[in-house]
Amino acid sequence: MTTASTSIVPTPAVAPQSRLWMPEQVLFTPAAIAEPWGQQILARVESLNLPIEILDRNRLTGLRGENERETYQISKRTLAVVVAPPSSLKLSPIPPSADWQFHLAEGCPAHCQYCYLAGSLQGPPVIRAFANLPQTLQHLGAYERMGEGTSFEVSCYTDPLGIEHLTGSLAECIRYFGTRDDGYLRWVSKFDGVDALLDLPHNGHTRCRFSVNALPISTRLEGGTASVASRLQALRKLALPPARGGGGYPVGLVIAPIMPIEDWRSHYTQLFDTIAEALDFDCDLTFELISHRFTPGSKETLLEWYPNTKLDMDESTRKVKRNKFGGIKYVYDTDIMKTLRTFFESEIARRFPRAKVLYWT
Ligand code: SF4
Repeated sequence: MTTASTSIVPTPAVAPQSRLWMPEQVLFTPAAIAEPWGQQILARVESLNLPIEILDRNRLTGLRGENERETYQISKRTLAVVVAPPSSLKLSPIPPSADWQFHLAEGCPAHCQYCYLAGSLQGPPVIRAFANLPQTLQHLGAYERMGEGTSFEVSCYTDPLGIEHLTGSLAECIRYFGTRDDGYLRWVSKFDGVDALLDLPHNGHTRCRFSVNALPISTRLEGGTASVASRLQALRKLALPPARGGGGYPVGLVIAPIMPIEDWRSHYTQLFDTIAEALDFDCDLTFELISHRFTPGSKETLLEWYPNTKLDMDESTRKVKRNKFGGIKYVYDTDIMKTLRTFFESEIARRFPRAKVLYWT
């Protein structure tokens, strides 16, 4: 991407240490350990010397604490390797992000106080990695439209890069989509350990995106993630052409959740400055813009997980939006939405004239 900025961020000679999540326990169900992909995950976690337990049954138990907060803490320190149920082979659409979603895991090791998963996954928020990923991938071809690009999102219920050093599953998905004529993979992350992805045969069929935000939001609300600066350096590595040591991937930025905090214009201007510095070369770049919203269910769960949160979830200042099933969510009112949208779209058009804004929501 040619940008308005001329400043150059040198790629460090020695990559700084990536932010890697290390679970305090790794549980395998008997069904997962019987899968070749489960064995591959076992070899990875053994090589990291993590405490491993092979369960007697295919059910996860013993993860509940005295209260929701304790259950949250135990779960977020646990990786469970399980077999995804047969129902996972039937895909659901996921507009506006992609045509279809599939899952290599459910649950996320980060601690974002606005987490999108709150209220949408059942049970303790343990990180479940799926040992039958190869079977899932084999079924995806049936969803591709011949002769048309069909997109598949793999980050709806997890941060796939956040557990990649433990599973290798994201790389397996990238290799699979590199062999497809009509299938395209999309993933998004707030972590930064991308070195193992740079040399994969992706064939331009994977778009790697990073979720970023203004610094006051990221530093206060996104616990356990890599810094925004590190995410942008990871994005730079993935987008740089192979001749310059990069991955040559199509890339994207998801700016989310956008919030009109105090001095929001200057904070988001600073974010755009940092993006422009990291992407000071031509690349295939998209933007997705997502304003903050919450539901009654997500608010309840988030207040159990983060009782002292400073996240604004005051319904009285929001507008109610209903979906076709009667569910409600609280969004910013129309005037605020318009002001924010105009700012973001004009900043992107001015600084990244060849980038596509995929949607605002
Ligand atoms: Fe939730 Fe995404 Fe943050 Fe993970 S990275 S805690 S899924 S908002």
